[in-house]
Amino acid sequence: MSQPANSAASDPPEAASISPAEAFALLGNDTRIEILQALLDAGGDERPVPFSELYELVDIDDSAHFNYHLKKLTDHFVRRTDEGYEFQYPGRKVVRSVFAGTFTDRARLDPFETEGSCYDCGGGLRAWYADEHLTIECGECGAVHVSYSFPPGGLDDRTPEELLQAFHHHVRHHYCLAADGVCPECMGKMETTLTTETDYPGLDVQVVHECTRCRNRLHSSVGLNLLDNADVLTFHAERGVDLSTRPFWTFDWCVSDASTTIVSEDPIEVRLDIPCGDDSMCIVLDGRLNVVDADGCARPIETNGQRPS
Ligand SMILES: [Zn+2]
Ligand SMILES: [Zn+2]
Repeated sequence: MSQPANSAASDPPEAASISPAEAFALLGNDTRIEILQALLDAGGDERPVPFSELYELVDIDDSAHFNYHLKKLTDHFVRRTDEGYEFQYPGRKVVRSVFAGTFTDRARLDPFETEGSCYDCGGGLRAWYADEHLTIECGECGAVHVSYSFPPGGLDDRTPEELLQAFHHHVRHHYCLAADGVCPECMGKMETTLTTETDYPGLDVQVVHECTRCRNRLHSSVGLNLLDNADVLTFHAERGVDLSTRPFWTFDWCVSDASTTIVSEDPIEVRLDIPCGDDSMCIVLDGRLNVVDADGCARPIETNGQRPS
């Protein structure tokens, strides 16, 4: 993908720091947004784009006027090098957000039937899109399997099947990043806690990831955070199931706590019994989601003399 330009690698870090209000004020102009889009169109992600080339691409009458707006973006959103202009991280994020339709489009998709069955009642699932969120729920009892933000641009040029596959990757990657301590929105530091205070009726325990920088908050069942766990991946792969592509909402252990048992309250530990085919594996996690034990259920944990159901 994009490589940092050589010239930038030796530059000192930009000292120019501006407030969010100043940043939005600088962007509050169609020509400046057009310049950022032109920079992307001209390959500014890969190489510096000369002034003249950029100017050609923007619909503006005189170069002084163009230069004025370009200067406003420089040092905050774009960087000037000897070879031309290139993106700084915020500039790239802004223009990508515009393409994703985050600020512009309004899209809706009426409910359509989708693969899988309800973890609660066994009914068929349906998906729908509104308010920049894709939701997959039971068509019969209404149990929500997942509802998560997805930019409207992601609906373009995709069949419903392709959209659901893209959504699966989007959510899976966000939760895997968060579980690794990285905020998927701002790349700040995320803190993970396992708690019995849940946002969902019917869920006894949930995982909360909270960004210490932008306050982005993700919460989910425990299983959703295990989609890149090596033991869980291997267990499924050995049984012919590819967790990276099979929609996670078709697995009850991912979207409910039907397979989750609270092993200890203080400090909190939970155990998941994950079925696949005729087998099942177990994994025990602590309050920070660290794996305490994963042994394929070689040593079942007894709780009050009973196997957890
Ligand atoms: Zn249902
Ligand atoms: Zn964040």
